[in-house]
Amino acid sequence: MELPPVLVTTLTFVILALLVWVLLSRTVLGRGFSVPLRNMFRPVETSQYPEKPRPVAPRFHGRHQLNRYADGLEKCIGCELCAWACPADAIYVQGADNTVEARYSPGERYAEDYQINYNRCILCGLCIEACPTRALTMTHEYEFSADQRSKLVYTKDQLIAGVPPGGDETPHTDRQVKERGLNYYGGLAVTPPTLHGGTYRPAGAAPASRAAQVVPTGDLPISDEQPTDPATVGGPTRRDPGRDR
Ligand code: SF4
Ligand code: SF4
Repeated sequence: MELPPVLVTTLTFVILALLVWVLLSRTVLGRGFSVPLRNMFRPVETSQYPEKPRPVAPRFHGRHQLNRYADGLEKCIGCELCAWACPADAIYVQGADNTVEARYSPGERYAEDYQINYNRCILCGLCIEACPTRALTMTHEYEFSADQRSKLVYTKDQLIAGVPPGGDETPHTDRQVKERGLNYYGGLAVTPPTLHGGTYRPAGAAPASRAAQVVPTGDLPISDEQPTDPATVGGPTRRDPGRDR
């Protein structure tokens, strides 16, 4: 008995489809080929780097930056907490004392030398978490490869942010800092009288519980003793747009 041509064609097609399915799903070779076959029909993800770099995520960990206050003073107080927190031993900090005639930071000390070895750094961000003054942050810059390892040891002059508009390059004198009356550490109670020029108010005992810190509703009283320039109180620096993690 001779089968109709339509039936023969249909059967042939079904058998071939079964063979292809068995080949793709049941053999190692088929499973390997199934990957490019699936991706042939997906949208192309190619980016035109470096002509058109893709934007990085807001919390991307790039090259570090040492920040300044709005008047140009350095936020780093040379405490070395970042160096101790670093799991790769990539940070070197040499602290030194500020003097009356040469003040680099609002604190007692500043970083006389500061280095980050990017041969070792894994850009984990633990150092910026450890920094008590938000002096150290991470930018979105990731294009800093080099042809010599020595070029990947960044020194303070490479890491420090530029002086903000209206600020002055360090060092400043204590007299200049006092005349500005700026509040560097986010509260008059913790601002030394030599910096805000008024009467020192001790912080007092810590509240017994978080419930005692509840902010009252309604308008808060506005004090004449508010910081002269709120932008100096721990805010991100002007050259640090992506650092808010
Ligand atoms: S990002 Fe991580 S590895 Fe790099 S310096 Fe900071 S703590 Fe060290
Ligand atoms: S960057 Fe921060 S943690 Fe590191 S030495 Fe300076 S103030 Fe201390």
